[in-house]
Amino acid sequence: MAKVAFIGLGNMGGPMATNLVKAGHAVKVFDLSAPACEQLAAVGASIASSAAEAASGVDYVISMLPAGKHVAGLYLGDEGLLQQLDKSTTVLDCSTIDAATAREVGEAAREAGIGFMDAPVSGGVAAAAAGTLAFMCGGEAETFPKAKAILSDMGKNIFHAGPAGAGQVAKGCNNMLLAIHMIGTCEALEMGARNGLDPKVLSEIMLASSGRNWSLEVYNPYPGVMEKAPASNDYKPGFMVDLMVKDLGLALDIAEHSDVDNRMGQLARALYSEHQSAGNGQLDFSSILRKLQG
Ligand code: NAD
Repeated sequence: MAKVAFIGLGNMGGPMATNLVKAGHAVKVFDLSAPACEQLAAVGASIASSAAEAASGVDYVISMLPAGKHVAGLYLGDEGLLQQLDKSTTVLDCSTIDAATAREVGEAAREAGIGFMDAPVSGGVAAAAAGTLAFMCGGEAETFPKAKAILSDMGKNIFHAGPAGAGQVAKGCNNMLLAIHMIGTCEALEMGARNGLDPKVLSEIMLASSGRNWSLEVYNPYPGVMEKAPASNDYKPGFMVDLMVKDLGLALDIAEHSDVDNRMGQLARALYSEHQSAGNGQLDFSSILRKLQG
């Protein structure tokens, strides 16, 4: 069993760290929020008084923070963790952040002789609690087996996407595609409904035809078609519009820096941003159907 420092115990980090404790690892935790730390202490983790204290003498440092600036603040600079860690420590940043910061931290870790992977996740709070997250890792191939060994206690599909930053690029590609096919699915269902089709029947037809996609298969956005989908529960998340807008911003940043024609992605971001500005940020992202319904 490994010694692990876990930094960032929010909606995602809390249940992920809990799963590591349950798997038998010795977990030291740190978060700026004392109640978040206490929740983990209640399941058997030990609380550190700083990130540096948590990270001393561990096999792994795992972070789950809001954005790139928090990750850069934790690892980089003279006071950053990379200057303080034992060379044998492996650093895994599971936050969803910009690819440029992930590459910068990866490069600084390489210079410091420390194994690093960006390892953003797919799957929300429920998957974090169930230990069924997917991890998309970016970093050196030789670090991947050690990363996979611990990530397997928090998820079920663990991929090596490429060098540092590649995990964030994979996540950006996936979430841009998710936004586009969710909006397309809503448009198709609404068009069918306005022409007298039952959305449930139309969903069955498209599921057996070439329009089949994940939104139709497990997350139908039309209320009443799928009992357990957020659409049938007043669009309670699920995956919030606020987070989709954040992820689309990161994806478009990647597209801009690689000179990709991604007009569909840009339109998806514009639609989701308008939906967010209209006060729907806390709803599930499948609520974009309501915007299309006007
Ligand atoms: P959250 O806001 O619930 O948690 C973030 C935690 O980080 C907070 O507890 C905060 O106190 C702590 N924190 C911030 N700065 C810190 C610092 N310097 N040191 C220690 N702790 C610090 O966010 P979340 O929903 O858990 O999301 C975390 C990351 O996971 C984000 O990058 C998000 O985009 C990504 N993500 C979230 C979901 C989801 O459904 N919530 C799904 C996939 C990916």
